[in-house]
Amino acid sequence: MFLTISTTGSAQRPATDLGHLLHKHPEKAQAFSTSYGTAHVLYPEADAERCTAALLLEVDAVALVRRRKGKGRGGAPDAALAQYVNDRPYAASSLLAVALGSVFSSAMRGVCTARPELPGTPRPLRIEVPALPARGGADLVRRLFEPLGWTVTAEPVPLDTEFPEWGDSRYIRLTLLAAGLTLAEALRHLYVLLPVLDDAKHYWVSPDEVDKLLRVGDGWLAAHPERELITRRYLSHRWSLTRQANERLELVRLAEADDSEVEDLDNAVAQEAEADDEEKPTPLAVRRREAILGVLRASGAARVLDLGCGQGQLVQALLKDPAFTEIVGVDVSMRALTIASRRLKLDRMGERQASRVTLLQGSLAYTDKRLKGYDAAVLSEVIEHLDLPRLPALEYAVFGSARPRTVCVTTPNVEYNVRWESLPAGHARHGDHRFEWTREEFRGWARTVAERHGYAVEFLPVGPDDPEVGPPTQMAVFRLGTPKEAKAA
Ligand code: SAH
Repeated sequence: MFLTISTTGSAQRPATDLGHLLHKHPEKAQAFSTSYGTAHVLYPEADAERCTAALLLEVDAVALVRRRKGKGRGGAPDAALAQYVNDRPYAASSLLAVALGSVFSSAMRGVCTARPELPGTPRPLRIEVPALPARGGADLVRRLFEPLGWTVTAEPVPLDTEFPEWGDSRYIRLTLLAAGLTLAEALRHLYVLLPVLDDAKHYWVSPDEVDKLLRVGDGWLAAHPERELITRRYLSHRWSLTRQANERLELVRLAEADDSEVEDLDNAVAQEAEADDEEKPTPLAVRRREAILGVLRASGAARVLDLGCGQGQLVQALLKDPAFTEIVGVDVSMRALTIASRRLKLDRMGERQASRVTLLQGSLAYTDKRLKGYDAAVLSEVIEHLDLPRLPALEYAVFGSARPRTVCVTTPNVEYNVRWESLPAGHARHGDHRFEWTREEFRGWARTVAERHGYAVEFLPVGPDDPEVGPPTQMAVFRLGTPKEAKAA
């Protein structure tokens, strides 16, 4: 079984960076023993312009059969010759994927301690697999890889070149080309899709395979058009696991769709509201950020928390103003934080700049010591994402425990929804909004919170303030009373 990964480069970005990414030195041929045989990694070529790493897996067919028998599963008690004489040693398959996963595990996770800036950067990649068992043929190979950004060449391998009339075998020669993917993404695609094409997994599929599939499929599997087929085959047609995986992936997909939807909707609102304006309309999301920045600057805050920071747009804006010396983005979603860190180019930022920003994963429904001692906190379009019964927990975590001097909260004003032509009556603006409040409801909540925790609160409109229904976004600014006032309250 054989697979090559190649990249091209230049003097500034040498192709031999591939060696750093794979954690395997180009000048050495290395061998690793795996449970199925020996995996060799070698570089047939390695210079600044071109570098190719080859993974060769020498399968020990006898060990494979023994291993399966030893485990008491899968291996039938017969000694059928087919167990020993089969295509395993020659064709790429699930075993090659397993070898990829173990020999290149750090590369697959996108870890490179020596050169931390490398893994996040896409580079030109060419992957070749000379003999790939592909149930479903070249057509399925394209349906699996093309949606992920690969240019696919899949040539059927004839059963016997001497007898073309015998037709094609079930093997194909696969070449994949991409310019926009990172090596970690590429390895994760192969790790899942090689066994899917083979469709004959050679190890026991345990329930934790679902977790593994979701982990390795993070960022590409949920919205893949062939998701159902991928999960079914990857999980060896085990129906309950497949269903579990698809349910979880569907939640991920909805969350992903929502993320883009909220931006679209924000852009739409402002455009409708300002359709008559001569100037280019300002999206509501931008107005909201500007309003928040205004409040923070006026408060004199230097150390700021962005709670529920999402994909990091506000963190990015805060970084541009040197008045903010320490910026912490917190979100419960790892995926949002990954996107935020990409947006901010955290891995390529200078040390000074990088020392100003931290991204933390955490839930606002729990008190968190890490959030104490800041000047200000922002909750921009976050409270409506919590179930109402969880809101008191957030309230305590922010106003009771973290207790920044200033807290700026924004949330949609549901009254404004009627002004919004593209929104069907009675619908929330976002699939994940658990509630949307009228001005009265928001103010009622904010006043109670302020009173309970010793803050003063005032309300500001964001976006055009409609005389009848108010602004599209409502904002509350809480200020901690002076110690005396706080005690009195
Ligand atoms: N503040 C950003 C994102 C708003 S979307 C903006 O204004 O554009 C709401 C964000 O809150 C999402 O990123 C979601 O993951 C996060 N979130 C929802 N519940 C949370 C919780 N309990 N703890 C922390 N973050 C949460």
